Amino acid sequence: MKSLQDPVAVLKGVGPKRAADLATLGIDTVEDLLTYYPNRYDDVTPADLENVQDRQRITTQGTVVSEPLLSHFGYRRSRLSFRLQVGPRVIMVTFFNQAYLAKRVALGQTVTVMGKWDAQRAQVTANKFLSAGDQEQADSGAVYSVNKHIRQATLRGLIKQAFDEYQNVIPTLLPASLRQHYRLLDRRTMIKALHFPENVGQAKAARRTAAYEEFFLFQLRLQAIRQARRHANGDRILYRNDELKEFIAGIGFELTGAQKRVVNEICRDLREPYQMNRLLQGDVGSGKTIVAAIAIYATITAGYQAALMAPTEILAAQHAEKLSRVFAGTHVHVGLLTGSLTAKQHRELTGAIKRGEINLIIGTHALIQDDVEYANLGLVITDEQHRFGVNQRQLLREKGAHPDVLAMTATPIPRTLALTAYGEMDVSVIDELPAGRKAIETRWLKVDQQSEALHFLRDQLATGAQAYIVSPLIEESEALDVQNATDLYNELVEYFQPHYQVGLLHGRMSAEEKEQAMHKFQRGEYQLLVSTTVIEVGVDNPNATVMLIYNADRFGLAQLHQLRGRVGRGDRQSYCLLLADPKTDDGKQRMKTMVETNDGFVVAQRDMELRGSGDVLGSKQSGMPEFKVGDPVGDLKMLQVARQDAADLLRTPHWDEQDDNQPLVLYLQRHQLETHFD
Ligand code: ADP
Ligand code: MG
Repeated sequence: MKSLQDPVAVLKGVGPKRAADLATLGIDTVEDLLTYYPNRYDDVTPADLENVQDRQRITTQGTVVSEPLLSHFGYRRSRLSFRLQVGPRVIMVTFFNQAYLAKRVALGQTVTVMGKWDAQRAQVTANKFLSAGDQEQADSGAVYSVNKHIRQATLRGLIKQAFDEYQNVIPTLLPASLRQHYRLLDRRTMIKALHFPENVGQAKAARRTAAYEEFFLFQLRLQAIRQARRHANGDRILYRNDELKEFIAGIGFELTGAQKRVVNEICRDLREPYQMNRLLQGDVGSGKTIVAAIAIYATITAGYQAALMAPTEILAAQHAEKLSRVFAGTHVHVGLLTGSLTAKQHRELTGAIKRGEINLIIGTHALIQDDVEYANLGLVITDEQHRFGVNQRQLLREKGAHPDVLAMTATPIPRTLALTAYGEMDVSVIDELPAGRKAIETRWLKVDQQSEALHFLRDQLATGAQAYIVSPLIEESEALDVQNATDLYNELVEYFQPHYQVGLLHGRMSAEEKEQAMHKFQRGEYQLLVSTTVIEVGVDNPNATVMLIYNADRFGLAQLHQLRGRVGRGDRQSYCLLLADPKTDDGKQRMKTMVETNDGFVVAQRDMELRGSGDVLGSKQSGMPEFKVGDPVGDLKMLQVARQDAADLLRTPHWDEQDDNQPLVLYLQRHQLETHFD
């Protein structure tokens, strides 16, 4: 029996080499091939030659009226030309370096070609041969994204072959009720129209079905997982409310309304008998750490352990230091598990964790990957969730633990989108900054205004403030980044000595050296800290009030916003200075956006507009999955509708017993386990 799960090797012309080449595009099965959709379509309707612009790309169709002439020149270069009668006109068609086409063109034949129009010479410099004669099926103009291993034509040929052989076993996944409701195509028609449309309109209609299908299946998977989790057994963490209240009262500041709300949401989850899986989203500086501390404290009053995972050792060390202070005098015992422990220290610490003597364990993701064994882990919190590439929940399950999970992130993706994208998580949002915060003043200076920036810095330092200085980013090379930071450091030491002390922080330093540098900055022994972007996330020194960023246009908006978030964390006026001479419009827009707004959600929206959602959401940073067809920003409405439809279906009693839903049941069985979100 033919199945869409057949490996591509079943196709004619696919041996081990070609199968490996296809795998580089993520194509392993026939289904992968059939759902490898074109990313655009060339317009293949013949142009009206009287109405086209010089140098425009056109498709034209006509009769060959001169013997095709093939000439070779240079090294492996060739030219094929012939005259073509198009309506009343005769034009010249020339192909370069496609000598093999000579066999397909003959006098008197009707051909369709695509290329660039040269109005003056009435000539098409063609690069695409669409068809010759009526018996040959016309190229639909579909353009696939390929790489150096696979050519367009090869891929198209294989897709054609796969479709011809498998079209009768393509199941339609969407139930008839939904297809009728939204006037969607069945899957076979959709796939055919996406790859071989008769015209661009047909491809567009098919794309609509494909986008809905993709969103619907995605949401169905997420929500099925969520539903399963709700039925699964988790531990009830019955924390001591009186103790928790006392702890909160002793924090030293009043929680914001938003913090109170999310604390309540989290506490409710802890008490429930199912496993919490909650995303805590809040802009930089909104006070996520104290919320984490409260959740940790609650968990520990119930007799469980908690773990806090940070993406960098610097951040883990900072959390350990701050939380040790927050929890001083309580029965919370903090252990910091880092790579820089000696073997003996490591052994002692993991021993204490296993015996339950340490009940708050802080570290990087080594916390759940290593051989660390817990006495009774009740809660795992990940800080800066978007920085983690691995699916930690999966890892936790493999270790046999099923603690409640709280993932914290500042990644500002628009709220509606977060709710939709993290369909399998519950989402809490802190949408309020602590009272008394002054808006950070952001200024954009030209590079030749560096001395003004330094003067400004000097004045600020004179008032007792501290400052971060971020050196230019060189994408290609960490070594160059380090060199840059070091040069800048030397320059600034010279400039500010002997009055102010400057520290240096970069990715090539050992964990210990980094920690030392951060420590001295936190304690005020350094007034200035020169750094590469290693300080981008999480670092909290409320006394730092100036962030100076060199060549700021090299950074993306999300990153600039994160960097800026290192200041403005106390009640003093803070500043962010961007030194940049952007060469592109995008670069200018980014600087302007930073000057105009402090709101992470607005920044995120602008970022998406400038870069296109694919870039923002496709990157690991956001945690969003990549969709093949649907655009979660452009098609947000559709994504929301699909989300609702998936929820409605799952809520229908015995939905999984109805005939029409069997393809979906099978689909879920096949895809549930391989779902990754973080
Ligand atoms: P982020 O959400 O970026 O992780 P942090 O948790 O590091 O932010 O908090 C930023 C700063 O604000 C910290 O110095 C923290 O002590 C302080 N803070 C948090 N909540 C409040 C509050 N409700 N009132 C005053 N200061 C607060
Ligand atoms: Mg933080």
